[in-house]
Amino acid sequence: MKMGGSETDATCPSCSHGRALFSQVQIRSADELATTFYQCLKCEKMWRED
Ligand SMILES: [Zn+2]
Repeated sequence: MKMGGSETDATCPSCSHGRALFSQVQIRSADELATTFYQCLKCEKMWRED
């Protein structure tokens, strides 16, 4: 399943592909910043930026 979002340069931790989709998710807490999620364009692995 593909996420919506924009393409960016990011290295997949699974297959080392260099392009991924990213989208930002706002967690419902005043103390939390938006979290960025990536999805590899090659293998579709999803990961989170810390
Ligand atoms: Zn990948």
